[in-house]
Amino acid sequence: MREWPGHVATSLRLWGCSFRCPYCSSIDLREPADGGVAWNDVVAHLLLHRDMIDGVVVTGGEPTEDPDLPSLLAALKDLDVDVRLDTNGSRPDVLAYLLAEALCDSVALDVKAVPARYRELSDERDMAARVSECVDMLIASDIEHEFRTTVVPGFVDPEELPRIARALRGGRLYILQQYHPMPGQDAAPFPDDVLRQAARACSRFLPTSPRGLTIEDD
Ligand code: SF4
Repeated sequence: MREWPGHVATSLRLWGCSFRCPYCSSIDLREPADGGVAWNDVVAHLLLHRDMIDGVVVTGGEPTEDPDLPSLLAALKDLDVDVRLDTNGSRPDVLAYLLAEALCDSVALDVKAVPARYRELSDERDMAARVSECVDMLIASDIEHEFRTTVVPGFVDPEELPRIARALRGGRLYILQQYHPMPGQDAAPFPDDVLRQAARACSRFLPTSPRGLTIEDD
């Protein structure tokens, strides 16, 4: 499945995120609202369909802001499925706990931009440092991981990408995600070739690929 290459996976999207990304495609998930499903009901549903999947991607919102995340991941591990966590890297304390308890098999961490731009995303002044701590934690671990940056015009300058990649050196994979505007977002994506060229420049530091191009590479 595209969301986790090599797996037939389903996604669980958890409510809550304190970031303010200008291109967020999950605005409806940032604030808790009525209508969600209790996670133990979700796990019971997955148990019924266990033979159809071999992986679950836990995403959001920002899953590490949910105090029930460790319990949810433990329940998923009891189903004997592989678990990928999507995170923005804002909670190194939570990530450290999940890694120590082996509650996920893979982590995808969004590196939103260069450190100075994190002030636009969060009121927490140490947010860039927290993300950096999560990056270092993953690089030092044995867990499968990838770092991702969505290349949003006006927020991420392609010329800054090698600088971000240098800070990810030692990581397993860096994905440069093409921006696809949501309704109401009017910035035009960079041409695919801009992402391909940036990926070549970033590859000096760690394996890097563009993803989500208008015309995908073979
Ligand atoms: S971290 Fe994800 S969910 Fe949160 S605002 Fe950014 S894009 Fe949206």
